[in-house]
Amino acid sequence: MKTVRFFQDCDEFLKAALKFSGNMTQCIGKCRITWISTYQIQPNNGSGPDDLLELENCVKEMNNLLLCPEELADLGIFISHGLCKLCLRTSLLPTAKKNQRKEGNFDCFASAENGFCDQTRCKYQTICVTDANELREWRERIDIAC
Ligand SMILES: [Zn+2]
Repeated sequence: MKTVRFFQDCDEFLKAALKFSGNMTQCIGKCRITWISTYQIQPNNGSGPDDLLELENCVKEMNNLLLCPEELADLGIFISHGLCKLCLRTSLLPTAKKNQRKEGNFDCFASAENGFCDQTRCKYQTICVTDANELREWRERIDIAC
């Protein structure tokens, strides 16, 4: 049973999720993480630091509940979807390894687990090298995703 943790109740969360549906993006990969995609504090137009806090709590709740896109649609919540860095890395893995071999390099794509890689000329480095904590949290999310 999924329970709301960062709002008083489901209604309060749903209200916030609808309000901020244009500010969040959810990964369509296995991990289903949600992040803030666009937000600007506009003090003259009713949105300020309190709004940002509410949005941050909304994202925390989305990541607590890990709702599937279908579940979100059932709730009337329509947000952007894309691939997070780690799901993108996973989807690129076969092609990236093949290209690395073809270019005469080690096919080491996605094997650096501690945020470090000495292949500084590799064109995949920005998408490949991942912080160890980020990778651990991602694997935990994948384990519990629906
Ligand atoms: Zn993802």
